[in-house]
Amino acid sequence: MLARLQATSHWDVLVIGGGATGLGVALEAAARGFKVALVEAGDFACGTSSRSTKLVHGGVRYLAQGRIGLVREALQARAQLVASAPHLAQPLAFVMPSYRMGQRWWMGLGLKIYDALAGTRGLGRTEILSKEQTQLRLTGVNPQGLRGGVQYWDAQFDDARYALSMARTAFAHGAALFNYCRVIELLQDQGRVCGARVLDQETQQTFAVHARCVINATGVWVDDIRAMESGLAQRPKMLAPSQGVHLVVDRRFLPGQRALLVPNTADGRVLFAIPWLGAIVLGTTDTPRQDTPTEPAPYPEEIDFILREAGRFLASAPTRADIRSMWVGLRPLVQIDSGDTSANVTTATSQLSREHTIVVSRAGLLSVTGGKWTTYQHMALDVLRACVQHRLLPRSALRARAQSRLWGAPAFASASLTEVSRLASYGDEAALVQALPDADRMLTSEFSVAMVRFAVRYEFARTIEDVLARRYRLLFLDAHLAAQLARPVAEILREELGAGFDVQQAVQRFHLLCLRYQGGVERHR
Ligand SMILES: Cc1cc2nc3c(=O)[nH]c(=O)nc-3n(C[C@H](O)[C@H](O)[C@H](O)COP(=O)(O)OP(=O)(O)OC[C@H]3O[C@@H](n4cnc5c(N)ncnc54)[C@H](O)[C@@H]3O)c2cc1C
Repeated sequence: MLARLQATSHWDVLVIGGGATGLGVALEAAARGFKVALVEAGDFACGTSSRSTKLVHGGVRYLAQGRIGLVREALQARAQLVASAPHLAQPLAFVMPSYRMGQRWWMGLGLKIYDALAGTRGLGRTEILSKEQTQLRLTGVNPQGLRGGVQYWDAQFDDARYALSMARTAFAHGAALFNYCRVIELLQDQGRVCGARVLDQETQQTFAVHARCVINATGVWVDDIRAMESGLAQRPKMLAPSQGVHLVVDRRFLPGQRALLVPNTADGRVLFAIPWLGAIVLGTTDTPRQDTPTEPAPYPEEIDFILREAGRFLASAPTRADIRSMWVGLRPLVQIDSGDTSANVTTATSQLSREHTIVVSRAGLLSVTGGKWTTYQHMALDVLRACVQHRLLPRSALRARAQSRLWGAPAFASASLTEVSRLASYGDEAALVQALPDADRMLTSEFSVAMVRFAVRYEFARTIEDVLARRYRLLFLDAHLAAQLARPVAEILREELGAGFDVQQAVQRFHLLCLRYQGGVERHR
């Protein structure tokens, strides 16, 4: 990476932020032959992009709002995402139990329209279920008062591993991508943004990256970068973030291969119980938040809400003692007025129909935020379109490219994402993992020493958290077990990264993080 950086004095595109949005832009630009650099303050996908509900979906709820175009577009994106990495994104059946007379027929009708909109890209047919069928397909559902249900299809994925695969595909197209490199200043020349000064968080050295086009894709932190543009600290904020909490419990609460969807909780929200990598993910909430910490914690009432609602729809109600891990994601909700004509902004295309917003400042800084994981590619293409419109990139940026699979993606999945699978998430690279030293030395029944080595050598891992939270998802699945593995993983990291790696400090830091995932809560709202 450093060799690529030194060999290039001027880049076509500098992307700030290595989540779904930034990686999507880097990949699409690099695949069209542009010289792309991407800098990420933490690890790739360490922000919202590893903390999603893990759904690749067309947005059933937008259908109820009559937003047909948006749903059709997201269904198309869903199909592309699943096809691009079958080992990391797969169809999943969802069952909506119905406890009210006639409800399942209405829900069924809506979901048949959903199927029709997906057309040949559909993942499975919607079925209206009797009470007995619902119980059979959704073992674990609360049978009291159950009248029937509806089964429909969307998809699920491993968000962080998918992001890493995007980073590696962009690298294969010639992009240079740096984790643990934070933008601390925007470079400007004659009133135009022309690059950024970057702090390498490991060496504490700074370096400048010059580019004709700078893309701010920093999710909920997008306003921090916008404020770096000289003299414009007082501009209106693009975002009003909210947080979403997920709780992870044992598979016994919902055995089987199907997810549970409650379309209308007591306070009108949607609740999911999803089988994922051998556990059940419950979520989520939508709580406004003023601050944007890198490691947000849940408010106690959010945990109570999820447990209470899950308890209403599951035969066996989970309690706090059943929680194995919990994580929180910050939603980049766009609040900027689409007609913003303030002096600071030349273009504000609040594309509510797409749920994401692109703003290009007078100095040429392009900020993109909002949207959802599923539609990352549409967002990236919109960014390239805006770059051409503002003469930041030539028209060749609009060139179509053949859809291809991501790095390491096999033609077919060899295991379901609902189960823990030892090697399936490595796709075509499983043999490479097995060829590394200590492939037979296991840290758990599913996780080998060779996988830690692979994470460092091929997947940019630098810390215990990188390995146990995003390359292997143990912190998200079982924070207690993740804490127990901290030391052995740290010792392998020292072998791989060199004697400078401080095992003791790394283990202490990771143990503190595990406490958060085990139940640390915010005290005040
Ligand atoms: C609770 C929740 C559940 C969700 N579930 C789903 C779902 O099931 N399906 C779906 O499609 N979508 C879902 N979403 C939406 C989706 O996760 C987000 O839209 C998407 O991940 C946003 O990606 P991003 O790249 O814009 O932001 P992020 O992933 O947050 O990336 C921004 C990056 O910028 C970096 N950064 C910040 N400052 C700097 C700096 N100065 N220099 C360099 N880098 C910097 C950060 O470290 C971060 O990694 C969910 C969102 C939430 C909150």
